[in-house]
Order: sequence, then C-alpha cells, then structure tokens
Amino acid sequence: MADIFEISELAKEYAQLIRASRQKQMQLDRDTIAHVLGLLHDTLDALQEDIRSIPRGILAERFQRDLERSISRHVTTFGERFKASLDGGIEAAALNVSEREADLLRRLSLVRTQIHPEHSLHVAAGAAQIGVEFGRVQAEVLDRLYARVYPDGLKLSQRLYNLDRDARRSIADTLFSGVAQGQSARKLAEALRPLLTAPGVENVRYKAMRIARTEINSAYREGHIASVTDENGKLKPWVEAIGWRLSPAHPRTDICDAWAGDDTEGLGAGNYSSGNVPPGHPHCLCYTVTLLASLPDQQFVSHPPKPDDVPESQRKYYGQPKPDPPAQSDS
Ligand SMILES: [Zn+2]
Repeated sequence: MADIFEISELAKEYAQLIRASRQKQMQLDRDTIAHVLGLLHDTLDALQEDIRSIPRGILAERFQRDLERSISRHVTTFGERFKASLDGGIEAAALNVSEREADLLRRLSLVRTQIHPEHSLHVAAGAAQIGVEFGRVQAEVLDRLYARVYPDGLKLSQRLYNLDRDARRSIADTLFSGVAQGQSARKLAEALRPLLTAPGVENVRYKAMRIARTEINSAYREGHIASVTDENGKLKPWVEAIGWRLSPAHPRTDICDAWAGDDTEGLGAGNYSSGNVPPGHPHCLCYTVTLLASLPDQQFVSHPPKPDDVPESQRKYYGQPKPDPPAQSDS
C-alpha cells in the first residue's frame, strides 16, 4: 500500500480503487452468468437423457407420469444449484465492494492533514474494525436483497419461485403436447432446447440471467451501503453521502439517468443519504461511490447522466417525478 500524506492524492487513489473493483465486479458477473448457463445445460442434458431412456409403453398416461417426475426432479435440482450460485455471487460482490471501501478507509487513515480533524479518531477506529466488518456486510446484503420488494411488487424469493414454476410449466406443456401428437423421443428432447438454453428469447435462460445479473450488481451497491453505515443505518462520520453513478456500459438513457442526476436532498447530483439510495432496476449495472467529508469537491463521475431525457413512463413506474423547473426571477 502506498503511503499517502496529502488529501489531494486520495481522490486519485479512490478513483483507481473504484475502477479495479468494478473490473472485478464485471468479471464476477460474467463468471456467474457462465456458471448458470452451465447449470442449464446440465438440466437440459438430464431431461433429454430421461426422455430417451424412460420406457414408452402402450400407456401414454404412465409415460406422462414418469416424465412429470423427471421434470420435477431436474427443475428442483436446477433451482437449488441456481440459488447457491446466486447467493455465492451476492456474497462475493458484497465482499468485493467492502474491500474497496476498506482500502479507501486504510488510505484515509494515512492522510496527514484531515480537513475535518474530528474525524481522525473515527477513521482510526473504523480502520481497526475492517476485518470484523466483512462477514457482517455479506450477511446483511443477503438479508437485504431477499427482503427487498421491487417496483413490480415481487421479492427475490418469489422471483425464484416463479422461475421454477414457469420452467416446470413450459417443459411439461411442450412435452405433453408432443406426446399427444405421437412425437419421437428425439423430437421431444430437441423441443426443450429453446425453452432452456437458447439465447435471445424470453426463456428460462433469459430469466435466470436477468435475476443473476440484477442481484449481483445490486449486491455491489448494497454491500457498499452496508460498509459505510453503522448498525442503525447512519452514515459513518467520515462519509458525506452515497453517490449513484452510471456504468460506462449504460446503453441508453433510462431511469438511472434520473437517479444519477437527482439532487432532492441538496447533496449534489446523484448523491443520497443512506436510506434514500434508489433500488436499481433489472439488468442495472450502476454503482455507488463514497463521497468523503474530507473531499467535498470530488464527485467521482465518469459518465454524466442525462436526467432530462428520461421517459416519463419510467419516471412514473419508479415513482421518480421530474423536479420542478427553477423559479422564474423577475429581475
Ligand atoms: Zn442503472
């Protein structure tokens, strides 16, 4: 770790920490997505193997019952493995961002002249606590993500339940109608691919990946919030605000531009107190940063938002009204 003696160098260091940690996060996102895709291929293989090997006697009913059992077993296995992979990704993302904040805090504790001298003791105490904090942050993030209700009214556990239910239904519908039409085992087996692993359609693959990406990136933000707040949800003394920042991969103007441009609290564009950080949306890759009390001018914006271009329908859906235009002066 570099010795830092001037506060001005800290901003540069933190920008680098953010960049490195975001790169790690993107890798984690890719790894988890690849792992989930592997689980889906395993599920497809297992189902196809059963379709080929289950004896198809004279009684269609019996064949159907055996297929039902096979679907149930393999979808349940997929659901369990998917959840394990998701939870592992969530914990890894929370750890990644809490390490980023721990590095920032360690550097902050090395700064020679604090702009706010009264923070020095807090910073030193915080730096001494770093090791204890990691486990707490991971557990807290898992709790928060499972407790959160998204704007569509669903919690993560309900989303996982729906994924399982939809997978069972679509597989059973496809197989049973194929059986009724007298399709060959080979044809039945082939019909499952578009439902499970084919890209570019709204199938199990798409839904599972959306959940994984959304939650793992949500964990990165929640892990940050948990790292810079105390047990009562209050920001730690050296933290001025939490900044919502757009991902450079942000494809087009959406509700995130409103969140990254909002200044309702008067803390600067996109900056929030701990309880007011926006929830994110499906596929959201935005991240949050610490605004340090000792670096009031450093905003760590790499991708400026366009809040005026956000479609009204999205503002409504996320309950984010357009701010009033500035009052006309009569000079
Ligand atoms: Zn976003």
